[in-house]
Amino acid sequence: MTAVKIDGRLIASKVRDEVNVRVQALSKQGVVPGLAVVLAGDDPASQVYVRNKERMAGRVGINAQTIRLPETLEPSQLRETIHRLNADEAVDGILVQLPLPGHIDAALATSILNEIDPAKDVDGLHPLNLGRLLAGEPGFVACTPSGCMRLLKESDVICRGRRAVVIGRSTIVGKPMAHLLLAADATVTICHSRTQDLADRVREADIIIAAVGRPEFIKRDWVKPGAAVIDVGINRTADGKLVGDVAYDEVAEVAGAITPVPGGVGPMTIAYLLDNVTRAAARRANR
Ligand code: NDP
Repeated sequence: MTAVKIDGRLIASKVRDEVNVRVQALSKQGVVPGLAVVLAGDDPASQVYVRNKERMAGRVGINAQTIRLPETLEPSQLRETIHRLNADEAVDGILVQLPLPGHIDAALATSILNEIDPAKDVDGLHPLNLGRLLAGEPGFVACTPSGCMRLLKESDVICRGRRAVVIGRSTIVGKPMAHLLLAADATVTICHSRTQDLADRVREADIIIAAVGRPEFIKRDWVKPGAAVIDVGINRTADGKLVGDVAYDEVAEVAGAITPVPGGVGPMTIAYLLDNVTRAAARRANR
């Protein structure tokens, strides 16, 4: 292996320490940051993610609550929950754990999620916050892309003038990721399932962000020697192993730096959720 392994757990703990300092300062002003996580249904992976978020929030002094709704929930129940949390002064951040149960289709889910107060939208998914990102204005940015940028920064990966390829164009990862890289002066290409000659596009990159959701999809010969590789993917193989979107062992032989799965991007996503909640609470303190 030649690549430097980027330690997401270590960098995430540094972010949490920074958040904790800000939480303590807020508590001196009488403000305890509050996070409400809405969990609908009983998807096992979602249960684990929500538990981790709650645990990490507690560690930095954020008051986290989980609102559990049944798998069979009516869309109106979710709407009412969001409206109640929007009105709750003690709640600074609202997060609806995705995916929602299957009977709520994507368009309906989006319309309900858009009812989250943009000032409490700590997932950065509200169109107002997405627009602010596009316009280069301050707002909430999705946690995973923010975490990826910090991983690059902590690993001394320079974005300015370099070629970055983002594989995946979801609203929660791929698109905001591309905009953050653009804001950092990288030349950005976004690839997706209709991209032709994908391996050739990836091979041009100094920075590769893989957010595809396909186990070990990115191979060694797709990667330019010395490239920085950030693997967002979380995939479970048939034998129960957790792997990323990058064939780690072989790509680590040519990359300059690479994130492992687990222990790379995952911890950063939670750390930046806590960061966003603390920002929201700071705005409350300044009102
Ligand atoms: P989505 O399914 O929403 O998006 C996947 C993207 O990959 C789509 O844009 C899709 O293209 C593209 N894609 C799929 N197949 C191919 C292919 N064969 N070639 C090129 N592009 C392809 O997923 P998310 O963005 O939500 O998540 C991506 C991965 O990251 C998942 O494994 C998820 O579990 C993980 N994840 C990890 C997080 C973390 O904290 N580490 C946080 C969030 C997600 P198209 O648009 O054309 O369909």
